[in-house]
Amino acid sequence: MLTQDPFPLPFAADERIVVCGGGGFIGGHLLADLRRRGYTKLRAVDIKPLKHWYQEFPDVQNVVADLQEKAACERALEDAAVVYSLAADMGGMGFIENNKALCMLTVLINTHLLAAARDAGVQRFFFSSSACVYNAEKQLDPNVTALKEADAYPAMPEDGYGWEKLFSERMCRHFTEDFGLITRVARYHNVYGPHGTFRGGREKAPAAICRKVIDAKLSGNHEIEIWGDGLQTRSFQYIDDCVFGTQAILYSDITEPINLGSSELVSINGLVDIVEDIAGVKLRRNYNLGAPKGVNGRNSDNTMIRERLGWEPSISLRDGLEKTYRWIYDEIQKAAV
Ligand code: NAD
Repeated sequence: MLTQDPFPLPFAADERIVVCGGGGFIGGHLLADLRRRGYTKLRAVDIKPLKHWYQEFPDVQNVVADLQEKAACERALEDAAVVYSLAADMGGMGFIENNKALCMLTVLINTHLLAAARDAGVQRFFFSSSACVYNAEKQLDPNVTALKEADAYPAMPEDGYGWEKLFSERMCRHFTEDFGLITRVARYHNVYGPHGTFRGGREKAPAAICRKVIDAKLSGNHEIEIWGDGLQTRSFQYIDDCVFGTQAILYSDITEPINLGSSELVSINGLVDIVEDIAGVKLRRNYNLGAPKGVNGRNSDNTMIRERLGWEPSISLRDGLEKTYRWIYDEIQKAAV
């Protein structure tokens, strides 16, 4: 049975660990946790200028580089023992439905990183896949049957973003089979929390709804726009569970892609109810039926992760949203002064 603390340290504290996409939401939290666990040789790589990284640590080697380039991947993985491949051109439904080519170009990052990891003799390689790999036909009904790992095939993933993830999953598998590189793949279901995107077009539903509720509360205009009819269902995983599960999967003997997500199903209307409650407001809901809304229903079947790790994400949506809401609220207040 795994517990979040203490956590076994399967690698020496001074092994080189590289977090690709370290300036992003999950990468930033992962680096914070690795530092907390005592790892001392951390490298973070991201294409964004440092000032746009969500979290930046002075004792981490921070590298700004475009990992779509082969040479940059080779430099990034010099002396690396462990690699987390989190870098991707991605966002919420509004972004991935309108930027399919950009999403698919992330295949360059994962391809070059895998080849560089093989050549550098990396000990373990983690790839962040997504629930968007699952067959769309299994996600037509808001009263979902939770998705189990086998439901990715026959393949009919989310166009663009999902196809790239599925292809890169298979690249991991074949790099293991053909070259002996040890790879681990988690299929993340929606992750949310502080220190992530909450405006600009790449934000996902929990952050977007927190921001809209805060804007409505602060402006006194008590209305909210909701994408779709609000009946679509999802599960949302708090970042701390994601960071823990990511490391647990990396260190495990699980060689096939595995779900990493919460199984607490909620409709988008239900999500708005919780955020309204946290904010202490009630808003008039305007449904934008033309906006991107993704599949009708999606949940994570956690049978495999429970069986293999004796653990599954368990932080409640209410608790996670409280922290996320407070952080976004403070950011909006800071930007206003
Ligand atoms: P994020 O956008 O905050 O982080 C990704 C980072 O990758 C960004 O900082 C971005 O600048 C960087 N990046 C993009 N292109 C790059 C390039 N060419 N070279 C170097 N860096 C580049 O996203 P996140 O939420 O932290 O997601 C991390 C990973 O998890 C991604 O692979 C994503 O697809 C996957 N994932 C996330 C979720 C979620 O809900 N957040 C769900 C499923 C899968």
